[in-house]
Parts: sequence; structure tokens; C-alpha cells
Amino acid sequence: MVWVGHFPLVVSLPEVPFSTLESVLQNREWETYSIGVRCKNPLHKENTSKAVRARIANNPLFRIKKTVFEFPDAEIILDEVTKQVMIQILPVIITGKYTKLARTIAQTRHFCYECKGSGQKTGSICPVCNGEKVLTKESVQELIALFFKKAFVCDEVLFHGAGREDVDVRMLGRGRPFALTLENPLQRTTDVEKLTNEINASLENKVQLSNLKIGMHNDVAYTTQKYHTKRYLALVESPEKINVELLEKYLNQKMDVLQTTPIRVEKRRVMKERPHWIILEKIKKIDENRVEIELHASAGCYIKEFISGDEGRSKPSLSEWVGIACHCLTLDVLEIVEDEPGFSFSVKD
Ligand SMILES: [Zn+2]
Repeated sequence: MVWVGHFPLVVSLPEVPFSTLESVLQNREWETYSIGVRCKNPLHKENTSKAVRARIANNPLFRIKKTVFEFPDAEIILDEVTKQVMIQILPVIITGKYTKLARTIAQTRHFCYECKGSGQKTGSICPVCNGEKVLTKESVQELIALFFKKAFVCDEVLFHGAGREDVDVRMLGRGRPFALTLENPLQRTTDVEKLTNEINASLENKVQLSNLKIGMHNDVAYTTQKYHTKRYLALVESPEKINVELLEKYLNQKMDVLQTTPIRVEKRRVMKERPHWIILEKIKKIDENRVEIELHASAGCYIKEFISGDEGRSKPSLSEWVGIACHCLTLDVLEIVEDEPGFSFSVKD
């Protein structure tokens, strides 16, 4: 997350290795810094530190910069014991919301579980990913990362979503909150509105961003540790005729649903039974075998499984309510509604 550079300390403190500091900081945008020294003799620390600070403050590279204790853009440590200069560059944090308009885009890049991202299995091409190393062709993370790499001239772009949706689920409405960590940036500011417009024009019908801001360091935890209730649109299908009247009995009622970790994700997650709730808000008959529903559900509730029943792992289920086997044909998140207070569990929905 934090870029760290180690360089040899070629001067004796309180002289300052300005050429080393310049090599990292000169062509970089930064406003704040902190500096620390470690002395061979701890008794010299105070005086050495004072002398170093005085020299630094008079140097043209540092003259208009500010010293801060918390979250400096650049943190410098001059270590007389290890004879090293350590320079840490804090990442830039971006916050915003995304909508995902296609059913073929994952939220983040998924490396192949079979070959662990190597593309090889026992000396030949991995049969699961066909040597592609990843299981997803496109992801929100990768699609938007290119633009941030260009604007901030950074290394990696890490993606942190407030929960996630499946590859084939569209994320509509006002979007899902996310944060980005831009590692080792040369730029720390940009015209955010211009960047938003550029991304949205290029990724039309795929991914759209809104509310983009340059954030604070605690925004990553703030984004990922929040849980939201959500509103969904689902197209439900059954091989048999669906009796819509049976469903109407449940309209606008908060129904408790007990869910065990779904079959499709049980390899990756701990088996646990969790209490959820669902409110069926709208029902629209499409034809004899298909019905479109809108529902509001608690954070982490599995909607596809609520519809099918997932072989008894979702109790009750929509299939149970109508007395025939149903499955979810398509699913969209319509809205990330609100924080669910007091809600906490260790995996993401
Ligand atoms: Zn593979």
C-alpha cells in the first residue's frame, strides 16, 4: 500500500543526503512530509534531529512544504544505525460510486483458483482458465484502473468495494460506493470532473462513475466496513406455470429468511447459517412461466438462492411460496439503500 524506498545513507548526520531525497521527491507532487532520525548514540538524537530539521527547512525542495505528524505524503527516516535512508510515499485514496451496465463484467480481477494465476497445471495449460491466468475477461477494477494510472502516474490501483455483485448482475441506480488506493503516485491531484467525464465517455454501456473525490486515508476502511441493504430487480422463471396470486400474499411484508452459505460459494467461504430479511415490493407477470419482481433485502442476503431455495439452504424461498421450482434468470441491483446499523459479519455479500 505504502511505497517504500531504501537508499544508502552516504553522509554523516546532521548533514542531509539531499541528492537521494531529490531523486525520489523532485519530480513528484507532494505537499506534506515528516522526517525522523535514528542515531547510533541515543543521547545525540535530539540535537541531531534539530540540526537535520533546520537544514531541511532551508532547502528549496522542502521550503514550501508542510511538516505533519499524521499521514504525510512523504515520510523520511535517516537511520545512522543501518546507514540507510528510507522514504515512504503514501498512496492517494479515491472514493466514488460505480454503476455496472453489462452482465459480463466482474467487480475485481479473479485469478484462476485451479492454477493460482500461473496458467499452468502439472506442466501443461491449465484446463480451468485455458492458460488465461484469470477467470474474468473484464472487471470494473481493470477497466477504470488505466485512467487513474494515467492521471496520477501511479503503480498499482487497488480496488475496495462496499460489498460486491456477481459478474452477471448489473449494478444500477446511484451506484455502489468504492475506494481506490493508488500506489506510489507522482501526481496527487487532478481535475476530478474531467477524469469522470473521460472515464464515462470511454466506458459507456459498461461502467460509469460518479461522486469521485480524492479521499482521506481512513476512507478505505469506511467504505469496506459498511453494510447496506439493497433493492433488486429479478426475472424469475419456472418450467411450470407460476401462480402470481400465491406471491401477492407476501407483498410489502418484511419476511425473515434463514440462509446457509450457498452451494456455489461454499468452497471459498465458511459454512454458516445467517438470519436475513426480504420485502417483496413489486410483482409483474411477464408470461405464464416468468415473473419480474422487485425486492428489498438485508445486507449479505443471497437473492438467486432465495428464489431457487438452493436445495433447502434458503428457508423460506420464493420457490416454496409458489410451490414450484423457480430460478433467477437475470438480476440487477437497483439501489444500495442505507447502512444497516448493528450489522456485522466477516464476509462480503
Ligand atoms: Zn488456471
